[in-house]
Amino acid sequence: MATRAYLDWNATAPLRPEAHAAAAAALDVTGNPSSVHAEGRAARRLVEEARERVAALVGVGPREVVFTSGGTEANALALSPALGDTLLVSAIEHPSVLSGGRFDTVDKVPVRGDGVVDLAALERMLGGRSRPLASLMLANNETGAVQPVAEAAALVHAAGGLLHVDAVQGPGRIVCDFKKLNADFMTLSSHKIGGPQGVGALIRREGLFPEPLIKGGGQEKGIRAGTENVAGIAGFGAAAEAARRNLAVDAARMAIQRERLEAGLRASNPNVVILASDGPRLPNTTLFSVPGMKAETAVIAFDLAGAAVSSGAACSSGKVAPSHVLEAMAVPPELARGAIRLSLGYSTSDDEIGLFLNAWAKVAEGIYKSAKDGEIAA
Ligand code: PLP
Repeated sequence: MATRAYLDWNATAPLRPEAHAAAAAALDVTGNPSSVHAEGRAARRLVEEARERVAALVGVGPREVVFTSGGTEANALALSPALGDTLLVSAIEHPSVLSGGRFDTVDKVPVRGDGVVDLAALERMLGGRSRPLASLMLANNETGAVQPVAEAAALVHAAGGLLHVDAVQGPGRIVCDFKKLNADFMTLSSHKIGGPQGVGALIRREGLFPEPLIKGGGQEKGIRAGTENVAGIAGFGAAAEAARRNLAVDAARMAIQRERLEAGLRASNPNVVILASDGPRLPNTTLFSVPGMKAETAVIAFDLAGAAVSSGAACSSGKVAPSHVLEAMAVPPELARGAIRLSLGYSTSDDEIGLFLNAWAKVAEGIYKSAKDGEIAA
């Protein structure tokens, strides 16, 4: 019987056993991957094996993979003025994209009420621009809403521009095929797929070169200087391989577990609203709210009851301001204030779902009671 339910996989995933083993073994390899001696070549082999595994995860060749310190750095690297004169990003991007990287101005493309980017608005905003660079995430980390990346790529390319896709939340949940998405750049993060934290990759179409953020040695084809994080990269490679192999089974199981979660949420409180549920969603994510619920308080109540959940994005937790994603979707403030994200992963068990639903039954009772007290007081 589970004693805790970890339902915060969009913040970070538990390390996969394969990734743990690969990273631990790599820590015992002495060489610098740039050295020509046997020790150096052993370290290089680990990096290149991992590169092939990460490349296979998204259907590209290993030459198209640039290792970075994570998703944030890969996003910052892609948002390079060498790749476009102006920058357009969707209004629901991760803060590392919304910040605009090395661009002085960022134009935000609106999203619809279902959390999906408004393609007609994108097309309008592309009009008259020379060399636009656009950035659109594959799936939103708060709502799970899957974005029409291939359609956006067609619009951006027709306007003579390039498209970067932040696919950090995609692998292990949905198919992430770089070529089918028709993107020019793609960001990946190891720790969202069960690899170590602090490592990621920028996938780039061959022949495209962002201006490096870090200059120095010629590592990563001169795009990202610095001795490679060999253990982190080896763990990332093992996680990528496992995520690719298990995708179909994991996605099907998570979809069933999420259905059970959403049915259970509604059973204990008929006023539950599942946000962004009208459009395409990742199978592992549900964002729900109830009028009158305060997300910060609910997260603590769930934690005390044994369930780790999140109020919107992990990086914005702790501040009470409504999430920029829900604001962009025009979710009423009363609902946005109570939004709780549940996200599942490769090892989520049915026991954990049961534990969470028991906790929810108690939290929901509290919400009912305080709503009733409020009515009496009014
Ligand atoms: N992009 C998205 C959509 C994310 O959810 C995150 C992490 O929360 C990032 C980028 C940043 O990735 P990392 O934590 O590897 O820097």
